[in-house]
Amino acid sequence: MLLDYIKEIYYLLEETISLSLSYFVNTNKRIHVLYLLTSIILAFYVYKKSSIKSSFIKYLFPKKIWLSKSAFVDYSLFCFNSLVKIVLIGPYIIFGFYIAFYTDEFLTVTFGFPKESIGITQTLVFYTIVLTVLNDLFSYIIHLGMHKLPFLWEFHKIHHSATSLNPLTQYRIHPFELIINNIRSILIFGLVTGLFDYLSAHQIDKLVFLGVNIFHFIFLLLGANLRHSHVKLKYPKFLEYIFISPFQHQIHHSNNPKHFNKNMGSKFALWDWMLGTLVLSKSVGRISFGVDKDNSQFDSLLKNLLSPFKTFTYSITRMIKKKKHFN
Ligand SMILES: [Zn+2]
Ligand SMILES: [Zn+2]
Repeated sequence: MLLDYIKEIYYLLEETISLSLSYFVNTNKRIHVLYLLTSIILAFYVYKKSSIKSSFIKYLFPKKIWLSKSAFVDYSLFCFNSLVKIVLIGPYIIFGFYIAFYTDEFLTVTFGFPKESIGITQTLVFYTIVLTVLNDLFSYIIHLGMHKLPFLWEFHKIHHSATSLNPLTQYRIHPFELIINNIRSILIFGLVTGLFDYLSAHQIDKLVFLGVNIFHFIFLLLGANLRHSHVKLKYPKFLEYIFISPFQHQIHHSNNPKHFNKNMGSKFALWDWMLGTLVLSKSVGRISFGVDKDNSQFDSLLKNLLSPFKTFTYSITRMIKKKKHFN
């Protein structure tokens, strides 16, 4: 019995490590070696344009960033979230396909078979555009909620508690936020795939399994890893109204109250522009990261995982005490 448990834990650990490592060779993941390489090339461009005296390698890998306490929280949370993915998310990915199937069924029953189905090229183009835009819009809405609703902020705070940024900070999110993000993408994937499956007379399955998502590929290729880094890659002003540049995301992490709740877009800056939460790189000088002046309550994996629950317990006890005081 005990031996079975030990074996189970061992296999789980093995799977966690292999899932974490697979991110470096999975073309859908931001930290695939190819995208890390293109990010280094873009970092070299920023380095050449700056007046930095140190060597490029020293510029790229400062110890105080890569070996900071904050970075170790990122690394450990990255591995911990792989475990969460295996146990709590992996088994439910299939729901995306169920939702697609039932959406297609619902449309067929309600409207009948479409008189004219759209061709494979049109399907490829529109499916990619609609999926990308809707995913990004809902990412923005959920991100806005995470910043504006105190309950959700307690979880999202963990991402903002990083005091230095490196590409793995992308994965420094509370498991609760990870689950919300996955529910969002499973729902949108299912609904959009079902809709296009219906419109294209079932040609979508060929595309889905090809994993075609050109926008995402370009986004990853164009230095997405630099968003969480000290490399200040800025886009030309006009482009920063459409796409969030790496430096604009760094502004999102700034601990200056002037920058709170700004640049919440994922790929597109359009939502921020439309809702007045956009800050352009040009208007910002030096920034530092973190949620507070004192970030010591976020310097370990456990502290970050427990932080929201600590706050909730504190608030509830305070409420009870207040009630008792007035009675
Ligand atoms: Zn945020
Ligand atoms: Zn971030």
